[in-house]
Amino acid sequence: MRFTSTRSSRDIESAQAIAQGLAEDGGLFVPQEFPKLSNEMIDKLIGMSYKERACAVLSCYLTDFTADEIKMCVDGAYTGTFDNEEPAPLKEVAPGMNLLELWHGPTCAFKDMALQLLPYLMTVSAKKVNPGRTIVILVATSGDTGKAALDGFADVPGTRIIVFYPHNGVSAMQKLQMTTQEGSNVAVCSIEGNFDDAQTGVKNIFADPEMKAFLAEKNMEFSSANSINFGRLAPQIIYYVSAYCDLVRSGRIKKGETFNVTVPTGNFGNILAAVYAREMGIPIGKFICASNKNNILTDFINTGCYDRNRPFYTTTSPSMDILISSNLERMLYLLYGNDADAVAGLMKQLKENGRYEVSKEVLAKLQEQFFGGCCDDDATKATIAELFNENNYLCDTHTAVAVNVYKQYVAATGDKTPTVIASTASPYKFASAVLPAVCDEALSADEFAMVEKLSAVTNTPIPAPLATLKDRKVLHTSKVDKKSMAGFIRDFLK
Ligand SMILES: *Cc1c(COP(=O)(O)O)cnc(C)c1O
Repeated sequence: MRFTSTRSSRDIESAQAIAQGLAEDGGLFVPQEFPKLSNEMIDKLIGMSYKERACAVLSCYLTDFTADEIKMCVDGAYTGTFDNEEPAPLKEVAPGMNLLELWHGPTCAFKDMALQLLPYLMTVSAKKVNPGRTIVILVATSGDTGKAALDGFADVPGTRIIVFYPHNGVSAMQKLQMTTQEGSNVAVCSIEGNFDDAQTGVKNIFADPEMKAFLAEKNMEFSSANSINFGRLAPQIIYYVSAYCDLVRSGRIKKGETFNVTVPTGNFGNILAAVYAREMGIPIGKFICASNKNNILTDFINTGCYDRNRPFYTTTSPSMDILISSNLERMLYLLYGNDADAVAGLMKQLKENGRYEVSKEVLAKLQEQFFGGCCDDDATKATIAELFNENNYLCDTHTAVAVNVYKQYVAATGDKTPTVIASTASPYKFASAVLPAVCDEALSADEFAMVEKLSAVTNTPIPAPLATLKDRKVLHTSKVDKKSMAGFIRDFLK
């Protein structure tokens, strides 16, 4: 298995793609071709545990890792770290509507599925590519990646990690999770700006030759824990393969029957992982791409025009408040039949004009595979209430956006194919938005009072990692403007 860049031809192994994060040409690393799961392999996968499935899927992509290395990584990531025997349980909450709960990890959002594993993949990769060199992980976060990456990389030898988050763009719980992070190798800093500012700042620092030289002098090298890193994507493919196996094993579909996937989407990483699972042979029909009021992807799927010249909204589903969906670039690469020049051209237009338009043929291919829909905060709240009252299931704001758009899809098409809906966060991470949906009383100003109230009203347990947060000390208070991110990094690495 070899990897190339979405913007020009490369020929590297997975360890280099993971250690490096982003290609030198600014593109993203992608497999040159997709491994296919044979019929016999799928039969085997159906009988396996999540960890066994993880080893099997990863071994298709990480062919430069030994079987022992992969097993060590998977055992480290998924043993004793999740509050559920199986890390990604699939719950049927209504006929045909299966919620894939991806938030049983230590930070209560789906990012743990990948970020518990990435530090292991990263350290094995770094040893293969550049033994002795320290990897400096740079993260821009809309809230959940930051904490999940901090939790995964804290005190991992040979790594340092620096997280930037938008000062007013994350939930109270998300902020507290990050600012209380312990570990001798971690730094957390808020920036004046939104997530796109943070992400653009990080991308510019990656591309800055002066910063590169500054790190090289110290025998250090940047890498990324954002979903631009293939090492983040590979673990996400696993749970779609696993969900299919669970659908078949539980008799909810027959082997070979298709199912649809619905994903609350921001950076396009999670939904792209489902596309990659289909490329491996998992029978996924439609990809239902759900957005909040920042509905740039809905417009793109409906018109073929990606245009970021639009207002940015802060919503109750902050992890999807994004106008530049990085991983869409990998989707374009697929849609354009691996034409790196075409993708590089579109990305140049996006950088220069903030917009691009795909060809008619590509738009047709896109619409054949995808349905795009969006909903605002009021509809999100109504969906939380509806799911709770009718199906006795409490979901978070992001998952609610997905459920709402899934219902729009069924209403628009009449397609009742069973669906897997990615449930991406615990409702307790967004208590101040979830509580009003299920309780009429006035809100308390205190986040933890709301968390307790939510538990009392809904008779659901508070996840332990969030319950203990209120007693933790705030350790990180730095705040910089978006031009000063490089300076902050220099100071930390001194
Ligand atoms: C990150 C995140 C998303 C968006 O996922 P992408 O891979 O960026 O599309 C959705 N919901 C939650 C809770 C998240 O943390």
